[in-house]
Amino acid sequence: MLSVNRLVKRFGGFTAVNEVSFDVARGEILGLIGPNGSGKSTTFNVIAGLYPPSAGSVQFDGTEIGGLPPSEICRRGLARTFQIPRPFRRLSILENATVAAYYGASDRISRGEAEKRAIDALTLIGLPTEASARVDGLGAAGLKKLEMARALATHPKVLLADESLGGLDETEMNQAADMLRRIRDDRGITIIWVEHIMGVLMRVIDRCIVLDHGELIAQGKPTDIAHDPKVIEVYLGTDADAVQQQVKARGT
Ligand code: ADP
Ligand code: MG
Repeated sequence: MLSVNRLVKRFGGFTAVNEVSFDVARGEILGLIGPNGSGKSTTFNVIAGLYPPSAGSVQFDGTEIGGLPPSEICRRGLARTFQIPRPFRRLSILENATVAAYYGASDRISRGEAEKRAIDALTLIGLPTEASARVDGLGAAGLKKLEMARALATHPKVLLADESLGGLDETEMNQAADMLRRIRDDRGITIIWVEHIMGVLMRVIDRCIVLDHGELIAQGKPTDIAHDPKVIEVYLGTDADAVQQQVKARGT
């Protein structure tokens, strides 16, 4: 469904992403992990259209999308969440999701249809849909949920989730992970999930790719990745045991 081929992104003389290639299958949950500064967000941002690639290609459903503006990429069916939520504070929760549905839809839709899609997305995520429900009352977990609902309201084929667990406590993290799985299971939406908190992610993803210094150093199923010597060396370190336990607990 999505094919990244020898992707390079340079900032001036610095190469943040170096010849990275991977594919994502329809209906898959792919984790994109690695240490801080390894190029996860940059890879994500090139796919979502924030930056054009310096070299290489990003193909979606067989069409090149590398270098298209973010709005166009969203209309083609790739919706993203932001690590730091910035909702329209003066609009209600429902209005926030409705704006996303209206401007992110692949076809022209009426305001009523946009609101219908917004209510549907908010209901799936578990946020209130009354006109009186304000953004101000939402905590960290609520704001992350709103990011997810706004992305889903655009009716994406692929959901790009950036650090969805940041700022959440243990229970909220597990709920967020289960929600991503539900989005895939119920809606058949393909998910690429960037995260540096690895244990929780490993319970849910089908496959993951690991970046280090802008290069892809490993890819595979959670069990293989959790035991990969190179991944342990550059990334997991003393957390390796804990992550291996998490993968084992999931029973795959
Ligand atoms: P990660 O998300 O894995 O923590 P990033 O993709 O954000 O890593 O960053 C990878 C590297 O690219 C870092 O060294 C970072 O400082 C650099 N970088 C990211 N964005 C920019 C930018 N807009 N300009 C210059 N350097 C950047
Ligand atoms: Mg990042």
